[in-house]
Amino acid sequence: MGVKVSKFGGTSLANAVQFRKVEEIVKGDRERRYIVVSAPGKRHKTDTKITDLLYQLYEKRQQNQDYTDILSQISDRYLQLVEELGLTLDIRSHLKELADNVEAGASLDYIASRGEYFNGVILADLLGYSFLDPVGVIVFNEAGSYNDALTHQNMVQALKKHEKAVIPGFYGASENGDIKIFSRGGSDITGAIVARGAAADVYENWTDVSGFLMADPTIVENPKQIKDISYKELRELSYMGAKVLHEETIFPVLKAGIPINIRNTNDPSNTGTMIVSKVNGSRERGAITGIAGVKDFTVIAVEKYLMNYEVGYVRKMLSVLEKYNISFEHIPSGIDNICVIISSHELNGKLEKLVEEITQVCQPDSIMVYEDMCLITTVGHGMAYTPGMAARLFGALAAAGINVRMIDQGSSEINIIVGVENKDYEEAVRAIYNAFV
Ligand code: ASP
Repeated sequence: MGVKVSKFGGTSLANAVQFRKVEEIVKGDRERRYIVVSAPGKRHKTDTKITDLLYQLYEKRQQNQDYTDILSQISDRYLQLVEELGLTLDIRSHLKELADNVEAGASLDYIASRGEYFNGVILADLLGYSFLDPVGVIVFNEAGSYNDALTHQNMVQALKKHEKAVIPGFYGASENGDIKIFSRGGSDITGAIVARGAAADVYENWTDVSGFLMADPTIVENPKQIKDISYKELRELSYMGAKVLHEETIFPVLKAGIPINIRNTNDPSNTGTMIVSKVNGSRERGAITGIAGVKDFTVIAVEKYLMNYEVGYVRKMLSVLEKYNISFEHIPSGIDNICVIISSHELNGKLEKLVEEITQVCQPDSIMVYEDMCLITTVGHGMAYTPGMAARLFGALAAAGINVRMIDQGSSEINIIVGVENKDYEEAVRAIYNAFV
C-alpha cells in the first residue's frame, strides 16, 4: 500500500463542519496515513485565527494586562468544536494546562504552538489515529532553524511506530525540550518533513483553493487552473507574488523527489495542482505555465562610456547597495550601461543618498532613476528551445500599446521578465495571457 501525507490548513479545520469534510477526505483513501494539521483558521471574514489569538494572549501576559477574555475565546472555540463533533475527549485538561503554563510565564513559542497541538489531539480522536507530538522528533538548533539531518532520522523512526497518525504542524523543540516554532504558515514545512520521513508517494496540501491559477483572477477573467508545475516554475512564479505554500516547504520534498498536490478541502473532486520535479511530456510545447507580477520597483540606470573594459565597475556599484543593506532583484546590462532594479519598499527613503553615493563611487556619465515600474514574469518549460515565444509575448504587448521598459530572460529560458510602468500592469498581464492561452 502506498503512503500519502495530507496536511490540512487553518480554513480546512476552522470549525466542526470543516472537520467533518476532512474526516471524509481522509477516510476516502486508505493511503492517507499521516495527517498534519494547522490551528483553526478564520470561520468568516472578520473572525480571528486561533494562532493570532495565542500571540495576543502572550502579548497581554507580557504587559501584565488582563488576558482572561482572550483565554476564554480560545477555550470556547475548542470546547465548541469537541461538543459539535460529539467527542468524549477531555479537552478541558489540555486547556487547563495551557492556562497554568501561561500563568507561570510560558514562552511565546510554547503558547503559539498550542493551536496546532489542540487541533491535532482533536482530529486524532475523531479519526481514531495515533497522536504524534513533534517534540523530540523535529529538532531545532540554537540558531532557530531545524536540524534537517537529525529531524529526518527521528521522523523515520517515529513514523515506523505508528501505522496512522495525526501530527500537529508548526512546531518542534530544541534538544533540551523547549518548544520552538517555524515562521508563520510553517505547518506546510512540517507536512514536507513528514512526507520525506514517510517516503510518501505524494504530499497533499489541502487548503481553500484548488491549486494555482495561470494568472491572478482579479486581473484575468476565469484563468485556467495549472494542472502540473515543476518546482523551478513554482519558484519563479511565487517569487513574483503567486503564493500558496510557505517558501521553505519545497526543500525537504524536493530532496526526496516527492510531488506536492495542492487540493481544496471544499472541492475535493478537483484534482488540484501537482508540483513535480519534472513536468511530463504531455505538456504542449510552446505553452506557458503561468504569469505573475509585482508592482512598485525602482530602476537606477547607470551609463559610462567603455564600461565593459573597466574591471570591477559592477562590484563598486553593488558595494554601495550592500553598504545600505539593500537587496536588488535584477541587473540587466548593456555594453556601456547597467541597471539595478530594486523593490521600492527596500529603498525606504534611502534613494537620494544611494544615487549620490553611486555617482561618487562609480563616476558615471549619467545616472537616471525610473520609479513606479512593475515586473511581470511569464513562466513555462514549454518556452525553452521553442522559437517564436518572445515574439508572441512582445507582439501582444505592442498590440496593446504597452511600452516595455526592460527585458530579462533567465539562462534556463523558462521565463521571460518584462518591466512596464505600474499603470500598464493589469493590461499587460491580460495581453500576455490572451496571447498564449
Ligand atoms: N498556525 C500557524 C500560522 O497561523 C501555522 C500554520 O498555519 O501553518 O501561521
